[in-house]
Amino acid sequence: MNEETLKRLADLKARQDAGEHMPCPRCGKNTMKPDVYTNALSRQADVMICECGMEEAMLAFINCPLPLAGWACFHTENHNR
Ligand SMILES: [Zn+2]
Repeated sequence: MNEETLKRLADLKARQDAGEHMPCPRCGKNTMKPDVYTNALSRQADVMICECGMEEAMLAFINCPLPLAGWACFHTENHNR
């Protein structure tokens, strides 16, 4: 995980800690529950994600996790540049 990724994750976490409602950082869908801490904690990063946490767990189980670089939050921000 590079420094840029860590910075973005820290930023996401800070915004979630502040109670900001945002699309799921992992899948990018607007499926996060309003109370951020009732969502799932990602296994790959210290941020909350939606029900796709189930999918993340399955992929980890078959030893084929989606890399953080594949997370929607990183894609969207790249598009905006
Ligand atoms: Zn999700």
